Amino acid sequence: MQIIDGKAISADIKKEIAAEVAGLIDKGQRAPHMAAILVGHDGASETYVASKEKNCHSVGITSSVYRYEENISEQALLEVISFLNQDEEVDGFIVQLPLPKHMEVDKIIAAINPDKDIDGFHPMNMGRLVLGEDTFIPATPYGIMELLQRSGIETAGKNCVVLGRSNIVGTPMSLLMSRNNSHANATVTLCHSKTRNLADITRQADILIAAIGKPEFVKADMVKDGVVVVDVGIHRIEDPSKKNGFHLCGDVDYAGVAPKCSAITPVPGGVGPMTIAALLMNTMKAYRKNMTKK
Ligand code: NAP
Repeated sequence: MQIIDGKAISADIKKEIAAEVAGLIDKGQRAPHMAAILVGHDGASETYVASKEKNCHSVGITSSVYRYEENISEQALLEVISFLNQDEEVDGFIVQLPLPKHMEVDKIIAAINPDKDIDGFHPMNMGRLVLGEDTFIPATPYGIMELLQRSGIETAGKNCVVLGRSNIVGTPMSLLMSRNNSHANATVTLCHSKTRNLADITRQADILIAAIGKPEFVKADMVKDGVVVVDVGIHRIEDPSKKNGFHLCGDVDYAGVAPKCSAITPVPGGVGPMTIAALLMNTMKAYRKNMTKK
């Protein structure tokens, strides 16, 4: 059984990006720049943004964070976005979600210049994804595609079952896996909370991608022998036996499922680091776009 090492593959990608950035600096060009908008003081959002900044800096990408209190008006936030859209020194930016309840998330995302939308959530970029055109692919599914490819997992002609149909993970994942190219070409089934006889479907999977947000939901009797499992879920489970009081687990019951797999991603150390690597790849893409405009 192969444990798909997202941490190592992400480190490889970061090395490649660091070399590219160093080359740009050697040629006298400025470093790529990522910005993040952070509204409020949600602990998880603070951690994610800090991690994104740290990872940017580790490869030579510069960053800035625009912080606002929870009560910032929607109009004021739209003005910040307009400012970042026009700032030539900002190659790409993200609006860290979730936003406070008084904001219309779709309106905020739609205000981002699609050429700077490194999260790939803008309707224009989502539309391009559907059409199979060049676009910013949302970081988690982009990272998973890289993970499968770089781990030598065959996808062509395989039955791929995606659990979960969110706009940021499951739906783009299903589109990418069904694309007509050598890294995809899978036959895809997209499952959700209204799917009937779920286990009958998951047992058909050669590749199972679990993104439903329920701790250890996928059990051993839901998969067939030899399956490749990608576990997107990430959950903190209280655990007094641990020094920090919790342990992490995914949407898959790793201990039960792993012995049946030909390959599986661990949690942590699987999809999580690849999501970060994909955001860096998207930032580089935005940089190249920005520089060719000048
Ligand atoms: P989400 O928006 O909550 O979507 C969950 C999806 O799962 C929905 O489509 C839902 O169906 C489906 N679902 C829920 N219960 C189900 C059931 N019993 N059977 C079948 N389908 C069911 O979640 P998300 O944002 O896609 O995230 C999924 C998980 O991935 C979460 O644990 C999240 O923390 C994790 N995540 C990890 C990373 C990373 O970098 N590692 C990145 C993003 C997300 P309906 O549409 O019918 O409601």
